Amino acid sequence: MSSDMSNPKVIRNYKFRIYPNKEQERIFFRWQETCRRIYNNALAQRKETWEREKQSISRTEQQVWLKENKKENGFFKEVHSQVAQEVLFRVDRAFDGFFRRVKNGETPGYPRFKGKGHYKSITYTQFGDGLGASFQNGKLKLSKIGLVKIELHREIPGTIKTVAIKKEAGGNWYAVFAVEIDKSQFEIHLGSATGLDVGLEKFASMSDGNTIENPRYLRKTEKRLKHAQRNLSRKQKGSRNRKKARYKVAKLHTKVRNQRKDFLHKESRKLVEIYSLIAVEDLNIKGMVRNHHLAKSISDAGWSEFLAMLCYKAEDAGSKIVKVNPCGTSQDCSNCGNTVPKELSIRIHQCPFCGLVLDRDINAARNILKKALALEAA
Ligand SMILES: [Zn+2]
Repeated sequence: MSSDMSNPKVIRNYKFRIYPNKEQERIFFRWQETCRRIYNNALAQRKETWEREKQSISRTEQQVWLKENKKENGFFKEVHSQVAQEVLFRVDRAFDGFFRRVKNGETPGYPRFKGKGHYKSITYTQFGDGLGASFQNGKLKLSKIGLVKIELHREIPGTIKTVAIKKEAGGNWYAVFAVEIDKSQFEIHLGSATGLDVGLEKFASMSDGNTIENPRYLRKTEKRLKHAQRNLSRKQKGSRNRKKARYKVAKLHTKVRNQRKDFLHKESRKLVEIYSLIAVEDLNIKGMVRNHHLAKSISDAGWSEFLAMLCYKAEDAGSKIVKVNPCGTSQDCSNCGNTVPKELSIRIHQCPFCGLVLDRDINAARNILKKALALEAA
């Protein structure tokens, strides 16, 4: 048996934020536009051949064509050869899909030309030292573009095959790595499913009754920070003592941030190892800011940061995160489904319909799990 058979690989995408400078951004845009033109030209060639002879040109034939054109066309020449060649692969894929459907007796729409602004990414097809793209001193090195600042917020657990650069609708730039990983890393997770509710007193509660407490060491540092901030406000402007106090505040700020991050990493890792499915509320943080109690707890606990960690760690652990609509999760009875209205200060869910008495957050976590299981079954 070949090693490939016993150790099958999968390709997964890993996305990282990048921070190109103005000049690099201009190059990205210019290359995107050039790639769009290459794409449309290659498409036109194939279309004509298909209509004339009911034959398709191969990618290798088009590679020769591209090489010839690069000699004369300054824009074509500027684009890195891998990036330009990769465009032809995209044309290939578009045609593969087209011909597959023709074969199946369908009458598919012909692959489309891409309008201005509709070619959204460029791709380097080789990654590693001395190849088109690589890492260098913690930055992303792109041949013919230079070093681009990248936020490597997580490990990449395999071999990088390609990297695509794109700008998303929100205005941020990203590098998307296609990574080859041993499939064994994604074996089916045998853990159970749980609902998770972000709490006011506790960091989170689970539907099975487990809870995550806010760590005491973090509270301690936060207290020290508050104290240092008060101290700073009492110091005279311009004084040396003020400078010292300001330094202390900054130092404690960093400490709180790091401790909080450590805590979130640790807890999210534990959760994805234990549970195969974790149901969470799809919290529209904006909508919840109106309730300032909850808003404080959410921002303090770093819930959105936690959720992001859960999502990417779940992927590696083979566990699944399901986001549900938070509507009614705290008010509904997780046993009989009746609505039991209660203020935020009421910590116990007491159902007058079925008699269930349960911690408010655990009741909510159970409702969150129910909703997720219903979504999964649908
Ligand atoms: Zn009930």
